[in-house]
Amino acid sequence: MKYNLRCVEGREAVEDRYTNACPSGHHALLRTEYARERLNLRDLPGIFRFCDWLPVEEVLPLDARPVTYRSREFARELGLTNLDVGFSGYWPERGGSIPTCTFKELEAIPTLLRLQEKGAGTLVVASAGNTGRAFAQISAVTGIPVVLVVPEANVARIWTTEPADAVFLIAVDGDYSDAIEFADRLTALGPLVAEGGAKNVARRDGMGTVMLDAAVTAGRIPDHYFQAVGSGTGAIAAWEACLRLRRDGRFGARLPRLHLCQNLPFIPLVHAWQDRRRHLIPALDMFRARETVRRVHADVLTNRNPPYGIRGGLFDALSDTDGTVSPISNDAARIASRLFEGTEGIDLDPAAAVNAANLIEASEAGVLDPKSSVLLNVTGGGYERVKEDYCLLPLAAACTVRAGASLDAVRAPITEWLRPFEAPWTGSASSAS
Ligand SMILES: *Cc1c(COP(=O)(O)O)cnc(C)c1O
Repeated sequence: MKYNLRCVEGREAVEDRYTNACPSGHHALLRTEYARERLNLRDLPGIFRFCDWLPVEEVLPLDARPVTYRSREFARELGLTNLDVGFSGYWPERGGSIPTCTFKELEAIPTLLRLQEKGAGTLVVASAGNTGRAFAQISAVTGIPVVLVVPEANVARIWTTEPADAVFLIAVDGDYSDAIEFADRLTALGPLVAEGGAKNVARRDGMGTVMLDAAVTAGRIPDHYFQAVGSGTGAIAAWEACLRLRRDGRFGARLPRLHLCQNLPFIPLVHAWQDRRRHLIPALDMFRARETVRRVHADVLTNRNPPYGIRGGLFDALSDTDGTVSPISNDAARIASRLFEGTEGIDLDPAAAVNAANLIEASEAGVLDPKSSVLLNVTGGGYERVKEDYCLLPLAAACTVRAGASLDAVRAPITEWLRPFEAPWTGSASSAS
């Protein structure tokens, strides 16, 4: 067996049948445990270079992968001598090969492949934009069907470089939380299954390849890891990747400090971690959420239900690594974006700009030893660059629903749309958890 799942709370082993929740009912993440404790790099395309530590059996011929390079000019501006950039986006001059321009594509690949291998059904994904675009792209290149639920105002963010004929796109007249709520109810319909977010080990291990790539490039685990977080899934994934690298033994024994950040004024994780509370208190940490969310520049960072308190989640990752979570203003993010683009030569996703601003502030505040090794996770970029090489194909919504609408409006068209994709495995959807 290539891998097993293990509940981080009860420690019981769990066979993977597209299982995203502990069967004994623990409020805890499941984590993959791979038979190979040493990471064996494979001569395979994209993230399949790391397939020993991905919860899939097959290999897809896709080039998407994170790249790690040593920063010179941006690092010099900050007075750092040992800064690596983990870049997930489109930048062919540096090997950046992700056409939808964010690390969400690193999650989408193993998630869709695992789903197909386990025969679990058709995936439903709620997204503010980046996740939806990534899943649409992987659906387009593999033909695996996906249902996307996106706020109407963000539909323009859903585009692909190949025709996405197997995507059913639902626009919700509301915000990201309304889209999530509608997508959750949608899984009551037939063979539709929730993608599971942070609870899905394929998503986490796919994102974990950013840390794996950085560690094999530098030959060691970095001292500091920087990332802007919405759900925090990427940061949990980086931590878990380091736990595996530590066990491997060749990359050092020290975990990196996680330096996370959110975009003011919506900063629930900053508040909760500042008090070292395991649980978010919505009335305190997300006071006037609808209004504060609207004022955030990088709206992928506005998740209202992050996997924070759950065992094996963000609180544990921060505790284990002596982590930090900082608030970053829109202005600081814009300034950082200009500095990064001017020094490194590539445009940033707004969330990656928030992260760059946090690194600038941390180095100015003297939090970092200038010689320590730092990994800046540039989670998205290259939107300008990709337009030079590709004609971007926008997706149109198959239907638009009001926030909180009943499923009646979509039941008939989805059932009709699903028919050609029906395969023997769709009957077993009810066994997936
Ligand atoms: C989703 C996203 C993030 C935040 O990642 P989480 O894992 O949700 O914390 C950061 N940057 C970009 C570009 C993203 O798309």
